[in-house]
Amino acid sequence: MSIKFFNTLTRKKEDFKPINEKEVRMYSCGPTVYYFAHIGNLRAYLFMDNLRRVLKYNGYNLKHVMNITDVGHLVSDADEGEDKMMKAARRENKNPFEIANFYMDAFLKDIDKLNIDRPEIIARATEHIDVMEQYVKKIIDNGYTYQTEDTVYFDTSKLKKYGYLSNRNVEEQKAGARVDFDENKKNISDFALWIKAPENHIMKWDSFFGKSYPGWHLECSAMGYKYLGDEFDIHTGGVDHIPIHHENEIAQAMGFCGKIPAHYWMHVEFLQINGGKMSKSLNNLYTLEDLAQKGYEPLVYRMFNFTSNYRAQINFTFEAMDAAKTALARLRDGYLKHSEGEEDISDDEIRDYETRFLDAINDDLNMPVAMSVVWDVVKNPKKSKKLQQLLLKFDEVLGLDLKNYQKTESVLPDEIQELIKGRNEARQNRDWVESDRIRDLLISKGYSVKDSKEGTLVEKI
Ligand code: AMP
Ligand code: ZN
Repeated sequence: MSIKFFNTLTRKKEDFKPINEKEVRMYSCGPTVYYFAHIGNLRAYLFMDNLRRVLKYNGYNLKHVMNITDVGHLVSDADEGEDKMMKAARRENKNPFEIANFYMDAFLKDIDKLNIDRPEIIARATEHIDVMEQYVKKIIDNGYTYQTEDTVYFDTSKLKKYGYLSNRNVEEQKAGARVDFDENKKNISDFALWIKAPENHIMKWDSFFGKSYPGWHLECSAMGYKYLGDEFDIHTGGVDHIPIHHENEIAQAMGFCGKIPAHYWMHVEFLQINGGKMSKSLNNLYTLEDLAQKGYEPLVYRMFNFTSNYRAQINFTFEAMDAAKTALARLRDGYLKHSEGEEDISDDEIRDYETRFLDAINDDLNMPVAMSVVWDVVKNPKKSKKLQQLLLKFDEVLGLDLKNYQKTESVLPDEIQELIKGRNEARQNRDWVESDRIRDLLISKGYSVKDSKEGTLVEKI
């Protein structure tokens, strides 16, 4: 069965052919741990998890590395602005190492709550300073750098090409140079590899450059090389990594050994909120905890993400979250109904569902289509344990933890379901008196009632 992935490097959907037949080696750019992850960040790790699960479903073993950026790097990818860790340390009156430990822990808890399958290797930058030092020394020896008093820069003009992913060249970058171009750099696309630490800089290490610290892009190249070698299969990140961070990773690897490290580069698009950007100033930046306080369990957010392909932006609204909540409840309910069913389903029918599901996930992780197959199984009027088993199998990719779902949790009693049905009909017929009567009845029986595009949403209070 062939898998197709969209490769940012070639801008094409390609057949996936790993270097080793049985094992896929991949690297994912992980979080900078200076604050809680917001739900946009978490979309990036849900994508990473989706990819892991699809590869496993296809029978591959995985060797997957994700870094934790716990060395401060600057607010902008292009070596400008303030150091993120230092800024957080000042904000919270802690030292940057305490900040990193605290937010790394919070991040790992978040990904566990989302049932994200953890990469085999989670590598902290601060534990790999020596690896980065060895890596950068070789780039220096190979003649790809220049130094100022306080910085070792990568000289991108030494490369045959810079801009493999975004398809830009150094000349084009020069033409687009901003007015505040760093005077110390020879070319606009040059970037810092190693930086001498100012007196008040806390995160610094003794190295060939005195008390100093590595540039941000270096950790991914060096740790990727340490664990996966100079050529591996897949590299993932967010679309924001394409123009600078991943170009610079490729540049470093070219300077180190003359190879583009990964064969397939996959990037997840951004989550938008109400059609726009998330930001603290707009007061629309949510964490998993914020969602929990509004009554959405983490798996609802996971379910919400299946409504779009990872390469498309997705728009977060609370209406869409309500719909995802209802959908998850229906899926669980359908799963339980099949688990109690005694009817027979032919092997052909099962095989047909399996083929359609596999075709969808192997088509560049087309989760909306995969979910339509899941709904066909859920809604099959014949209730059968074979279909329950099939949903469990699909759940290896969905990660909705169906196997641990207990009947008692939230399946509504038949009487309540009948009332909901009656109310939806009344609303369709614009019979507001009847609709209000049923709403009051539901409330008197101890349920909260909310209206949505999908109809009446009811929950036990
Ligand atoms: P950071 O911790 O800032 O390095 O970001 C962690 C990950 O979140 C990166 O892979 C980013 O590409 C990704 N990311 C940041 N904002 C969003 C967003 N709104 N939607 C999806 N991914 C995002
Ligand atoms: Zn990275």
